[in-house]
Amino acid sequence: MINQETLEQIEDCKLKSEVLKKENIPILEEILNKEIEEYKKLKRLNEEGKLNFGKKLKNKELQKTFVDIKKEVDEFLQVQNIESPEIGYYNIFQFRKTNLKYAGVYAALASILTPAAYYAITNFNPIAIFGTIAGTMIAKGIIEYHKEEYNISTYSPLEETIDLSKKDANKTNNIVISAHEYTHHILSKKGILQATVNTYGTSYESFSEGISRGVERHISKVWSEKEDNPSYRYNALNRGLYELKKTYEWTCHKLGVKRNKALLKTKTTTDEDVDKAVNVLIKENMAIETIITRLRKTKEAGSYDIGNTYFTIQEAKYGAEIYAQAVKRLE
Ligand SMILES: [Zn+2]
Repeated sequence: MINQETLEQIEDCKLKSEVLKKENIPILEEILNKEIEEYKKLKRLNEEGKLNFGKKLKNKELQKTFVDIKKEVDEFLQVQNIESPEIGYYNIFQFRKTNLKYAGVYAALASILTPAAYYAITNFNPIAIFGTIAGTMIAKGIIEYHKEEYNISTYSPLEETIDLSKKDANKTNNIVISAHEYTHHILSKKGILQATVNTYGTSYESFSEGISRGVERHISKVWSEKEDNPSYRYNALNRGLYELKKTYEWTCHKLGVKRNKALLKTKTTTDEDVDKAVNVLIKENMAIETIITRLRKTKEAGSYDIGNTYFTIQEAKYGAEIYAQAVKRLE
């Protein structure tokens, strides 16, 4: 059981105020400098077609590889006896074994969606029950279709499954993302869900995402060395750097410190993806434009950005052991 004191120390707002300190700026600049140099080299290699991302892993290969990933992550975070989650690609038409365990939950979900489902459950009407199951599958299908469409891989604490998006999937991405999602599984087993909101309205998303990014970084280094393939680093840096840059810009803005513009110049593919997605949203909805304009003005860093930055700074200061120590605090 996690004690109350620890919970208070790992809340999103606590990590945010830890990051928002003047003394972090030079540390962050040094990290950015180093990572940008590495990223630029990889970006060049990618433009020259010299990065090998590997083919998308088939389900069987994915499961086999996951055994090694799990072992490495368990060792890195110094955890034992964590039961393996199920891992696979989104499949709209197929319920997983573990889904069956939660059939009741889906039925309840469906009952919120349709009054007919409520009727089905309360009256135990077979035809209506069949309709409920069909309706639930459609609802689940719609959700999963959207995740696939937006290329989002997720961990579901309820079902204990890692669902990977098939879109743009390749071996290096599969491995780095599996490690990230598996970290959410470990943390959820220890009582920290990605977006748990407690009674005071606080959440632990930064803590959870920050550790997951740290694990991503570790795995990307181990696998790029093991297979002599820097594509692993390219994948991890794409997302990680985007978040660090965002926090850097926000911190400088909030604290009134002059930012080093050269550090913000290099765009990662995540920068480009986010820009594209934002432009689509703006076209579709004027209200969103107002929100986005406000966010751009305040340069507000999100919980992922804060979490990644918090742990990256800690790692730079005290070494990669901080991740295992952070997990140990939850016991
Ligand atoms: Zn995550």
